[in-house]
Amino acid sequence: MQFKEVKIPEGDRIESKDGKLVVGDRPIVGVLRGDGIGLDITPVMRKVVDAAVERVYRDKRAIAWCPLYAGLEGLQRYGSEFPDETIEAIRHLKVAIKGPFTTPVGEETHVCLHCAHQQNRAGKCEKCGKDDGVTERFRSINVRFRQALDLFACVRPVRYFKGVPAPNKYADKVDFILFRENTEDVYAGHDFESGSETARAIISLIKEKTGRQIRLDSGIGVKPISVFGTERIVRKALQWAVQQKLPSVTLVHKGNIMKFTEGSFVKWGYELARREFGDITVSEKELWEKLGGKMPAGKILVKDRIADSIFQQIQTRPDEYSVFALPNLNGDYLSDAAIALVGGLGLGPGANMSEEVALFEATHGTAPKYTGMDKVNPGSIILSAVMMLNHMGWNEAADRILRGMEQAIQDGRVTYDLARLMEREGRKDVRELSSSGFGEAIIERL
Ligand code: NAD
Repeated sequence: MQFKEVKIPEGDRIESKDGKLVVGDRPIVGVLRGDGIGLDITPVMRKVVDAAVERVYRDKRAIAWCPLYAGLEGLQRYGSEFPDETIEAIRHLKVAIKGPFTTPVGEETHVCLHCAHQQNRAGKCEKCGKDDGVTERFRSINVRFRQALDLFACVRPVRYFKGVPAPNKYADKVDFILFRENTEDVYAGHDFESGSETARAIISLIKEKTGRQIRLDSGIGVKPISVFGTERIVRKALQWAVQQKLPSVTLVHKGNIMKFTEGSFVKWGYELARREFGDITVSEKELWEKLGGKMPAGKILVKDRIADSIFQQIQTRPDEYSVFALPNLNGDYLSDAAIALVGGLGLGPGANMSEEVALFEATHGTAPKYTGMDKVNPGSIILSAVMMLNHMGWNEAADRILRGMEQAIQDGRVTYDLARLMEREGRKDVRELSSSGFGEAIIERL
C-alpha cells in the first residue's frame, strides 16, 4: 500500500485470521500523538512500552511504531484535521494508539488546535498567537474515527491501584472490563423534538397501531437494539474473556421494563454464547439447574443482571464480576460509576474496536493549559498501551507495566493530580513528578 506522508517502518504487519490476531515479533503499530498534552504523554507511553517489551523479551521482540497524523499534526501535514490517509493506515495496520484530540464545542467558526481557543476568524490564534493551528470548526475527530472505522465496541477496563485514595471499602477487588455497544440504543440519533412533524407522526402511528396514547407535547426518542449489534458486542466480550482466561461475562440490561430492546439484548446474547462459544461457556441457569452450582474448571460463566442492581453489586460484591457486555446507555453509566469506585481518576484507559481494528486511547481531553509543561499524568495512555499489549497477546509485558505503575503509585512517586489526592489523605512521603518523571519511575520498577 502506498502512502504520501505515512512511512511504514520495517516490521510485521498485524493480520487478522478467522477472528484472531496474528502478531509477529516486530509488529507495526500506529501511533497518533494527539493535540494538547498528547505532546507530553504519548512519548512517555512509547518509552514505557519499549522498556517493558525489552525487559521481558530482550531482543526477540520489539514494536515498530508507525507515526500517523490527525488533529494539529494532520492540519500541518495534510491541511486536514482528519486525513483520509490516516484512516486508511489504521485500517491497514489494525492496531493503533492515540492521544486526545481537540473538539470545538463553542459557536465560533474557527478553533486553534494548539490551545483549543475558539474564535471567529482564520489566521493567527487570538489566544496563543500561533499561526499554523487555526482551522474551521469541525465535528469531533473521535466520533469520526468511530464512524469511519466502524468501531462498534467501546472498551473500558477499570481496576484499582494500591495507594490511590478510593471511596469504596472493596475498591481493591475491582478488576472489570466493560464492552459497551457504540452505535445503537438511544445514541443512534433518532431523537425528535416535541411538536415536530416526525414526533407527531410517531405518536399518531403508535396510537393507530396499538391504541396507546402518548402525550401530544412529548419529545420522542427511538431506541433501536438489533440482533446484529447485540451479537457483535457480546462476541467481542466473550472473545476477550476467552483470550484473557477470565471467569465470567455479565450482560447488563433493563429487560424487565424494555422487553424487546434490552430484554432481547440478553436473549440474543445468551443464544450467541451457546451457539458460538457453547463448548467453553456455561449459563447461570445451566450452572444451577444442571451442574448443582459447581462451575466446571476453565469455563466461562455467562450471566445477566438488571442495570439498577448492578450499580449496587459492583459496590458490594465487585469480585463477582469480570467482563461486562452492555447496550450503549447502560455502558455509559456503568463505566463512569465503576471508575468512581476506584478513585475516579484520569487513569482510566480505553479502546474502540471493530471486528478487525483496535484503536487504543487516552480517555481524558487535551488539557490545553498544561500543554508542553511535562506535568500531566500519562497514566491513561500508558494503561491503554497495557490493554493494547494484552490485545496483541503480549501479556507478560503488559503485566510488567501494571506492576511498575502500581509500585510507583504505592511509593508515592506520582504526578501532581495524584500527589494532591494522596497528600489530602495524610500521606507524607509523596514526591510529585513530571509526566516523563512518572514514566521513568515506572521504568525503574518494571
Ligand atoms: P480535559 O480532560 O482536557 O481537561 C479537564 C481537566 O482535567 C484539565 O484541566 C486537567 O486539570 C485535568 N486533566 C485532564 N487530563 C489530565 C491528565 N492526563 N493528568 C492530569 N490532569 C488531567 O477536558 P476539557 O478541558 O473539557 O477538554 C479540553 C479539550 O479536549 C476539548 O477540546 C475537548 O473537546 C477535548 N476532549 C478530547 C477527548 C478525547 O480526545 N478523547 C476527551 C475529552 C475532551
